[in-house]
Amino acid sequence: EIEFPDALAMFRAGVERDPDGVALQYFDGSVSRRELDELSDALAVGLLASGFSAGDRLAVYVQNVPQFVIAMVATWKAGGVMVSINPMSRTRELSYLLKDSGATVLLSLESLYGDVAREVVPDTDVRLVLTTSELDFQTRDDERLFAGTVRQRHEGTEDLLEFAGRYRGQFPPPVDLGPDDVAFLTYTSGTTGVPKGAMNTHRNVVFTAQAYRDWVHAGRDGPIFGVAPLFHITGLIGHIAVSLLVPAPLVLAYRFEPQVVLDALLEHRPTFTIGAITALNALLDAPGFTRDHFSSFTSVYSGGAAISPTAEKAFRDATGIQVHVAYGLTETTSPMTLTPFGSPSPVDPTSGALSVGTPTPNTVVRIQDDDGQDLPLGEVGEIVAEGPQVVAGYWGKPEETAANLPGGALRSGDVGFMDPDGWVYIVDRKKDMINASGYKVWPREVEDVLAEHPAVREAAVVGVPDAKRGETVKAYVSLRAGTEVTPEELIAHCKERMAAYKYPRQVEIIDELPKTVTGKILRRELRDQVP
Ligand code: ATP
Repeated sequence: EIEFPDALAMFRAGVERDPDGVALQYFDGSVSRRELDELSDALAVGLLASGFSAGDRLAVYVQNVPQFVIAMVATWKAGGVMVSINPMSRTRELSYLLKDSGATVLLSLESLYGDVAREVVPDTDVRLVLTTSELDFQTRDDERLFAGTVRQRHEGTEDLLEFAGRYRGQFPPPVDLGPDDVAFLTYTSGTTGVPKGAMNTHRNVVFTAQAYRDWVHAGRDGPIFGVAPLFHITGLIGHIAVSLLVPAPLVLAYRFEPQVVLDALLEHRPTFTIGAITALNALLDAPGFTRDHFSSFTSVYSGGAAISPTAEKAFRDATGIQVHVAYGLTETTSPMTLTPFGSPSPVDPTSGALSVGTPTPNTVVRIQDDDGQDLPLGEVGEIVAEGPQVVAGYWGKPEETAANLPGGALRSGDVGFMDPDGWVYIVDRKKDMINASGYKVWPREVEDVLAEHPAVREAAVVGVPDAKRGETVKAYVSLRAGTEVTPEELIAHCKERMAAYKYPRQVEIIDELPKTVTGKILRRELRDQVP
């Protein structure tokens, strides 16, 4: 195994190994590894010529398009740090992220610039705005994705490819990157608070890319499909970094549109993907889905959000593929535990939960009480991780770093336990615990029981204020197409299967549960709905 000091060295080894291979596939267009190298060289030269220097931040505000990867590699070649921004961010959020990171260059989709960024940029340190289009790199202009999309040139901005084109054939000077340099800032998505920029170093990135290649078999048999959004740590590592390392083609489909994704699966025959099970299962519900859509896959991982045994089984029944599990946070640069390829996750006999795997190699996972004391195997406590993937801290936030990463170990905010064989189980997020008359209720357990009902598509459980019990358990449920069930029937279903203090006293049936773009169900938003 070659030891890569930084992710750029890892990328360069991939170019050397397979210069003519496809690096990025975008509908009918592709970018070879050599082209990716040349384009990022030119862009890096342009960045340096415009005053960008080592340690500076370039923010990327686009969906799953090839330009994301080009900008990322170019930023490293210029010695900089990429700031990964959720393209769903609107004015207030984008303004916060640009100001917090101090980015001086912004790459934005043209439409996002016109709708959002234009208003925000004047109040930030951004000096250079590069814009780009989702229509580039392909010629089909798929109606389902691009209806009404036109090229928009905005005053005071430069087109990314034209800008890079001016420096074509030039090489940036050698860059001094090391394992402790920050490769990108990824913002925690704020499902539980203010977004914090996790500083993912080159060591973090190289280590986790290798973990996905070696333990998950990502990209080892063929193309990787980008189900997760690239801006999220799952996409940054489980799609981009591992595809640069192996190297393997990365298939991108702009944004998650089930029908379009299904077409791309048949056309490009990917062998690996990782994403939230909610996204994977949405594909099964799309019209025209057949088993053949997944027949090219050798490895499918669910990561970034909880997966119940029922959801795992639904996917297996529909595709014939056993989903494996990865668990991690932005702060663990994606994986902290993994189900090693080929060994399915066990189910805990007491709680019925599916294991999220065993610790990634070289990683120490502990279960601790609130005082930071280790608990014995089998006891429930906070999951704490130490290892080469744990970030050094949050950008410009020493207090939050000290609180969440004391002594370099990450306090995950997740509650779980480890069995005697080292399999880790997540009970829930610490902050989502419901306190009903002094009894602890973990929403996940109730959600898993609801999911066992044949009419239930998805369920989210929250605590709502209750005069008598302090908090009471409320479930929001969406139903499978063509099914009918009453809230009373669902309450009875749960009452039969769980202790009296746990079962939901209220059930509300809604069309769709609110989710993050990564497919995580937003319990917070449901809690906030309650007057
Ligand atoms: P914030 O930290 O601001 O609330 P976030 O929850 O979106 O944002 P991420 O780093 O995106 O932060 O997500 C990490 C969390 O996702 C974990 O702490 C855990 O709760 C959940 N998670 C990730 N993978 C799994 C999994 N396999 N099973 C259960 N939960 C998971």
